[in-house]
Amino acid sequence: MAKSRFEYVRTYEQDTTLLPNTYIVIRLDGRGFHRFSARYGFQKPNDKRALDLMNAAAKQVMRQIPDVAGAYGQSDEYSFVLGRQCRMFDRREAKLVSTFASTFTAHYQFLWAEYFPGTPLDGSMLPTFDARAVLYPSMREVRDYFSWRQADCHINNLYNTCFWTLVISGGLSERDAEQALMGTNSGDKNELLFSRFGINYNNEDVIFRKGTILIRDMGVCTSTSDSSDAAADLGERQVKSRRQAEREEKKRQKAEVAELHVDIIGDEFWTDAGRWIV
Ligand code: ATP
Ligand code: ATP
Ligand code: MG
Ligand code: MG
Ligand code: MG
Ligand code: MG
Repeated sequence: MAKSRFEYVRTYEQDTTLLPNTYIVIRLDGRGFHRFSARYGFQKPNDKRALDLMNAAAKQVMRQIPDVAGAYGQSDEYSFVLGRQCRMFDRREAKLVSTFASTFTAHYQFLWAEYFPGTPLDGSMLPTFDARAVLYPSMREVRDYFSWRQADCHINNLYNTCFWTLVISGGLSERDAEQALMGTNSGDKNELLFSRFGINYNNEDVIFRKGTILIRDMGVCTSTSDSSDAAADLGERQVKSRRQAEREEKKRQKAEVAELHVDIIGDEFWTDAGRWIV
C-alpha cells in the first residue's frame, strides 16, 4: 500500500520494550476505590462480594492470557506474573499494561451485576484500573515481591479491622478511631481487638488476612520451573522444541485456575515447584 505524506508522524511514536529474560509483574489498582467503595456501599472493613468480583475478573484475565503464570490479589489490586520467556506483544510495555488494564476492567464491569445484584453501576462513577509493569531478574525478587504484597494486605487488614471495629462496635467517630490507633504496633492491635471486643484476629476470614493467590492447577509440574536460579539459568538455555512448547501452551490453557488463600511468605508454598510455573 502506498504511504501517505502523513505517515512520518508515526516515527514520533516511542516504544519501551521490556528487558529480555526477566520476569514481568503487572500490577493493576482500582482508581479512587476509597470513594468508589463508599459510593456502592461496600461493607467495611471488607466486602466479600467485592473481593470475589476482583478474583472472578482476574480469573478471566488468566483464562484469556495464557502467558500469565499466576496472580495475587488483595483490596482493589491484582498482580499478574509472566514468565521470563514471555513474548507477548514482543514485550512492548504499553501494549502489555494497557491490555491488562482494559481486559481486567472489561470483565470487572461485565461481572458486576452478578456480584452486586440490585446495585447497578452508575455512568458517573464506573470502576477503572491503572496498571504498571515491573521487571525482576530472578525468582528471588519475584517471591519477595509477592511477600511484600501479602505483608501489605496483612498490615492494612489488621489496621482496618481495628479501625472499623472501633467505629462500628465501639461507637467512636472515624477521627477518634484514627487517634486511638496512632502509634500502635501489631501486638497492640491484636490485644485491642481481643480484650475490648473479644475478637481473635486469627479467626477473621482467611481471604481478608491473606488475600488471593491464583495458580494454574496442572497437577505435577513438568516445565522449566525455577525453584533455584542456578537450575533456571541452565534450564532456560536449553531451547525448547516447538512441539514441546505448543504442548505446554495447550496444557496451560486447559488447566483450571485455582484460588488459594494461604501464606506465601514462608517456604512451604514455594517448595512445591508445581505451584507457580514461570
Ligand atoms: P488510588 O486511585 O490512588 O489507588 P484509592 O482510593 O483506590 O486511590 P487505594 O490505596 O488503592 O486507594 O485503596 C483502596 C481502597 O478501596 C481501600 O482503602 C478501601 O477503602 C477500598 N476497598 C477496596 N476493596 C475493598 C473491599 N473489598 N471492601 C471494602 N473496601 C474496599
Ligand atoms: P490488533 O490487536 O493488532 O489491533 P486488530 O484486528 O484490532 O488487531 P486493527 O488494525 O486494529 O487490527 O484493525 C481493526 C479491525 O477491526 C479492522 O480491520 C476491521 O476489520 C475491524 N473494525 C473496526 N471497527 C470496525 C467497524 N466500525 N466496522 C467494521 N469493522 C470494524
Ligand atoms: Mg494507586
Ligand atoms: Mg486504588
Ligand atoms: Mg489499592
Ligand atoms: Mg486493533
